Amino acid sequence: MEALTLEHAVEILLGKVKKIEEKEEISLWDAAGRVLAGDITAKRDQPPFPRSPLDGYAVRSEDIREASKEHPVSLRVTDEVTAGHVSKNRVEPGTAIRIMTGAPIPDGADCIVMQEDTDYGEDTVQIYRKAGAYENYCFAGEDYIIGTKLLSKDTVLGAVEIGTLASLGMETVSVYRRPRTAIITTGDEIILPGEELTEGKIYDSNLYTLGTRLALWGMQVTDRGKVEDDVFAAAARIRKAAENADIIITTGGVSVGKKDIMHDVTELLSCEKLFWRVAIKPGMPTLCAMYEGKLLICLSGNPYGAAVNLELLVRPVLAEMSGRGDLRLQRKQAVSRSEFPKKSPVLRYVRAYYEDGMVRKADGLNDSGILSNMCGCNCLIEIPAGTEALKEGDTVWVVML
Ligand code: AMP
Ligand code: MG
Repeated sequence: MEALTLEHAVEILLGKVKKIEEKEEISLWDAAGRVLAGDITAKRDQPPFPRSPLDGYAVRSEDIREASKEHPVSLRVTDEVTAGHVSKNRVEPGTAIRIMTGAPIPDGADCIVMQEDTDYGEDTVQIYRKAGAYENYCFAGEDYIIGTKLLSKDTVLGAVEIGTLASLGMETVSVYRRPRTAIITTGDEIILPGEELTEGKIYDSNLYTLGTRLALWGMQVTDRGKVEDDVFAAAARIRKAAENADIIITTGGVSVGKKDIMHDVTELLSCEKLFWRVAIKPGMPTLCAMYEGKLLICLSGNPYGAAVNLELLVRPVLAEMSGRGDLRLQRKQAVSRSEFPKKSPVLRYVRAYYEDGMVRKADGLNDSGILSNMCGCNCLIEIPAGTEALKEGDTVWVVML
């Protein structure tokens, strides 16, 4: 089978996914990164009452029209009101009510004089400065009024959006269910952290890199684990994972070696094969299929290949399934601060650091089996197929991680 272009592969995958429409009601505390399932409209005004924006005196602007430092106006103080409390008094002509920030402005008053413009009087107060009507006056509903559409369906909730929901008095919010993902690594040589490293074995890093990335994207990871290079065991493991997952991701066993079992696994599971091999480096041998209406994405076992293909192939799929538009891949142009002398006969991705329009390749090898120098990288330099060598100063595209 001819290798597909990355674009074509993504198009095929996107053609197979549906946005999840099931809703659930969750606590605001769990709502970060979740997608709003309906419009949010204000059920009342915010703030609910006119309030003072500062510490001072609630007065009638008319009473202090002539006030100045030289000729202060003297007013009788009839009450004191702090935030959370309501004065029973009305501000009558010739009187004032001491008021603190956030307290409801008493009836009769139409402005607030800040305490720095007074003598801080307790029983009577000297006002040193005039104020106009509605000066230092926060109106009811100045944040939003009843009926205002505050947030639209499909908004990805962040801190301020969640705070806005809380300002309405909401404790819970209706959001779309998150995609359920399963991650299964394959390989006779793979052992889990915590197990003793014996000859010929290596620790499973893919399970952690991929599992953590999925969690960071706000996906539910319903199943994760590893399986040996055994067609029947792997098929059974995928069958089980599919019971609780919308998408199953595996690593390893997709190349052309004797133990590259995933081809037989997909046969055994009677999958609908979508494609095998994408014309990119790393991670060329990716195999994608449908199993019982669910996407089965089998990535290369090479840690860098798996990580890169998770970004390039799986991330766009999850962005659409979840409605997380913010997860769609972002490309930026940058000037390369490094060279990459190797030819790139196929589209190549090089781990790198992007900052302020500049990009620098990570030191060390960019080989598919190398993981550790990807630590801290925030992008991949995209080197188009047919590029001879990347030179310092070249303008390149980068894919942000
Ligand atoms: P494979 O795709 O199964 O041919 O594996 C390619 C390379 O990646 C081999 O060197 C494997 O040992 C290594 N590898 C496979 N799976 C993992 C894993 N889960 N964690 C770390 N390395 C792996
Ligand atoms: Mg293998």
